[in-house]
Amino acid sequence: MAEFDVVIVGGGLVGGSLAGALRELPLRVAVIESAPVRASNKPSPDERVIALSLGSRRIFGGLGVWPAIAPVAEPILSVHISDRGHCGFTRLERHEAGVEAFGYVTPARAMDLALQEALEPASNIQTLRPARLLDHQVGPTGVALDIQVGDERRRITTRLLVAADGGDSGVRERLGLQVDGHDYGQDAVVTTVLADRPCPGQAFERFTDTGPLAMLPMPGGRYSVVWTCRPTETADLLSLTEADFIDRLQARFGWRLGRLSAPSPRQAYPLKLKLVRETIHERLVLIGNAAHTLHPVAGQGFNLGLRDVAALAEALGEAARCGQDPGSANTLADYKRWRGRDQSDTARLTDTLARLFVAPWRPVRIARNLGLLGLDLAPGARQRLARRFMGLDGSLPRLARGLPLETPHV
Ligand SMILES: Cc1cc2nc3c(=O)[nH]c(=O)nc-3n(C[C@H](O)[C@H](O)[C@H](O)COP(=O)(O)OP(=O)(O)OC[C@H]3O[C@@H](n4cnc5c(N)ncnc54)[C@H](O)[C@@H]3O)c2cc1C
Repeated sequence: MAEFDVVIVGGGLVGGSLAGALRELPLRVAVIESAPVRASNKPSPDERVIALSLGSRRIFGGLGVWPAIAPVAEPILSVHISDRGHCGFTRLERHEAGVEAFGYVTPARAMDLALQEALEPASNIQTLRPARLLDHQVGPTGVALDIQVGDERRRITTRLLVAADGGDSGVRERLGLQVDGHDYGQDAVVTTVLADRPCPGQAFERFTDTGPLAMLPMPGGRYSVVWTCRPTETADLLSLTEADFIDRLQARFGWRLGRLSAPSPRQAYPLKLKLVRETIHERLVLIGNAAHTLHPVAGQGFNLGLRDVAALAEALGEAARCGQDPGSANTLADYKRWRGRDQSDTARLTDTLARLFVAPWRPVRIARNLGLLGLDLAPGARQRLARRFMGLDGSLPRLARGLPLETPHV
């Protein structure tokens, strides 16, 4: 039976990033991912585009994968935030915040491929893909896992199990862990469009009565669109002809970017808040969407998950340096102490934004517009908000400061 120090279930963006971080540590690591390897030249069903924060770009720098991602990433130099049909708006400018960019709009595929490539030469990482975790049993010295790899059923063991298996985490469900949250009663329809008067580097977040509409700049004058709508509108938005969809989008967003055209295939995601009550358990830690699934307003979900990765990798590096068990209660408690505050604050902030800006009541509408105007007049408050969204707040792990992990001497 194969034995590992760390098994990561879920090789999505968060699990893949953790594997990338652990390739420098003296740990035997396995990644179990049910989707087949992503080929570089084939479109996949998930062509999502992610707004990476500056903090996340630094983490990818520390992991050594940023040079492979940078050529297809578009910097966000300013963000225009407005409330559709009302006077309130504010603009965040990168020079006010004293940073090179607030973040970078990046295709998920580019991050995936860069991580896959970085893992290939890593002799301490074994990727089992396509493979599925079927069941697991936790004991005091380790976790036994039953996995399906092709036609074969295998049993492996690990000292630490990391659940990075997404918002519908099977590990979380099997253990019956308590989850708080709610359904937003909204879907996000995503696509990309071409603008004939692009504003390079400028992102737009427009709050509307059905939820936020984000337009994020991409190379070549394209924009990534995240259009939050009522579930009753979703089927319509997905099935409209390209021309009718563009007309509908143009009516909602306006003409700031000139005429929009050439939408890519549309996809829809139902939006829910899911927060697991306890992110650590005996020999188990949940990270990324398995721990916290957020509303995409302000693009925080993956960025938060990547900060989990940076802190967990550092805690595991520290444990390795001291010769400690990676799954020990102390190691996991160190991780939790570090991450708890950021996880709950970010979840609260995005949840408040998502709810506040769809509230139809006049007093709330007036208050939020005054809030936006106040923000526009108060550079200090704007900068604090920007630092939080950039993932630069609080005590940052080495990777989030753009430094590589300190490799333990063994
Ligand atoms: C419309 C939309 C826009 C978004 N925009 C942004 C943004 O701009 N910025 C941002 O930071 N975030 C954004 N997010 C959030 C971001 O997409 C997620 O937070 C992030 O992708 C979560 O990554 P993950 O690896 O935790 O989970 P997932 O991407 O769900 O990966 C989980 C992986 O686990 C695998 N898996 C599951 N079960 C098993 C099993 N039993 N065995 C083996 N493998 C298994 C799955 O195949 C999958 O690959 C957005 C989300 C949405 C819906």
